[in-house]
Amino acid sequence: MLFIDGTWRGANGNATFETSNPATGEVIGTVADAGSVDVDAAIAAASAAFSEWAGQTAYVRSAVLRDAYQLMVDRKERLAKLMTEEQGKPLKAARNEVQYAADFLLWFSEEAKRVYGSTIPAPRSDQRFITLQQPVGVVGAITPWNYPISMVTRKVAPALAAGCTVVLKPAEQTPLCAIEVFEILDEVGLPPGVANLIPTANPVPVGEAFTSDPRIAKVTFTGSTEVGKVLATQAAPHMKRTSFELGGHAPFIVFEDADPVHAAKGAGLVKFLNTGQACISPNRMYVHASIADQFIETLVARTSALRVGNGLDAGVTIGPLVDQPSLDKVQHHVDDAVRKGATLHVGGKPAKVDGPGEGFFFEPTVLGNVTAEMVISHEETFGPVAPVILFENEAEVIAAANDTAYGLAAYVYTNSLARGMRMFEALNFGIIGINDINPTAAAAPFGGMKHSGIGREGGREGIAEYLETKTGGFSI
Ligand code: ADP
Repeated sequence: MLFIDGTWRGANGNATFETSNPATGEVIGTVADAGSVDVDAAIAAASAAFSEWAGQTAYVRSAVLRDAYQLMVDRKERLAKLMTEEQGKPLKAARNEVQYAADFLLWFSEEAKRVYGSTIPAPRSDQRFITLQQPVGVVGAITPWNYPISMVTRKVAPALAAGCTVVLKPAEQTPLCAIEVFEILDEVGLPPGVANLIPTANPVPVGEAFTSDPRIAKVTFTGSTEVGKVLATQAAPHMKRTSFELGGHAPFIVFEDADPVHAAKGAGLVKFLNTGQACISPNRMYVHASIADQFIETLVARTSALRVGNGLDAGVTIGPLVDQPSLDKVQHHVDDAVRKGATLHVGGKPAKVDGPGEGFFFEPTVLGNVTAEMVISHEETFGPVAPVILFENEAEVIAAANDTAYGLAAYVYTNSLARGMRMFEALNFGIIGINDINPTAAAAPFGGMKHSGIGREGGREGIAEYLETKTGGFSI
């Protein structure tokens, strides 16, 4: 169903599309497929609802988000199960994501009350300067399938907190997860038109409408760098405010002063999270040559112990990839690396999993002797492959790590505080984990440099993306 102007309804012409389980291939839902008439109706509803929502007190907006947080936490089990079925990650990881998603609702319910303006000393004695922070207007949001609930709340919560209204298009692979989030917003009494949901099998016209429709003030997108650039190009002539959270190619650097076993355990955990389908997934593991054997031995042992399968089955630690093109891309990266001289330590091909249907499973893989000539060293794999590259010194590894068009996440293992600080300052990435494989939280700004995007989500910065600063000069 579409959620437009506070009403759940079918698409104009009753168009629908199917969503399926990537672990089995089975169809798990049929969803209304929004066309241009529906997109227009959603934008119209958000536009009509804007002035009243923007005019509510921050306390009213905060309370709605707080209630949504509580309801999401209460529904954690149901949402997690649905996420596993629709997106594939193991149930435990799905539960963690639901909590992360709920955290954005809570964080921005609090931030709603902290949208401060300022008074500024003026150059003339008869002048006063004041700034106001006001909501930008109607927001068009586009979200991906890999984190199908938290990416929705990471955009909708700050937008609503700021006083904006929203039209959201979820990824075509995960519309059911988005529908559940909007069910929650509906149940906690969000006024009609304030948040609208338009699942569709055809994202292109929605992107065109969001970037060109004069009623939309701001476009926020999470997805591939390729599509981000298309949207940025479309938005430019219309001077839309935009935020982009795009692809990454994270280095994971292990220095000789770190414990290689501890680092390898961390590397295995973060690499195979979400089957490697995360924009902050390590894509290049730079390991100091003097400790590489121990690192690889532990990483290979940990990787071999992972259990591939349907995320609903007990004991499964790594789920399927989302679809066949994703599987083909991972295979291509592995084959290219092996052909150019990489060592295949473990994995390397589609995984056989017992159970009904055909899932898009790939064996968790570790590659050694990876070099800069291999495709995997510069293209985002978005799959369960850990490429290990050896290095000899700090200056060399900083240069290599920064030698990418991307700039989202980086990880460093070192037991030297000074080196940790040097790396934090020298690496050109927006999120850096120093001996930390999970440098993310609703309270911490998330976003990238270079081709990884523009803007930050979460944290204090997250709500600023939905606000305009207005300066008042008063002659008294
Ligand atoms: P990935 O599938 O690799 O995460 P995409 O960038 O293809 O990355 O998808 C992310 C989101 O962008 C999805 O919601 C998808 O429907 C949407 N999308 C894809 N192509 C376009 C486009 N041309 N215009 C607008 N949205 C798009």
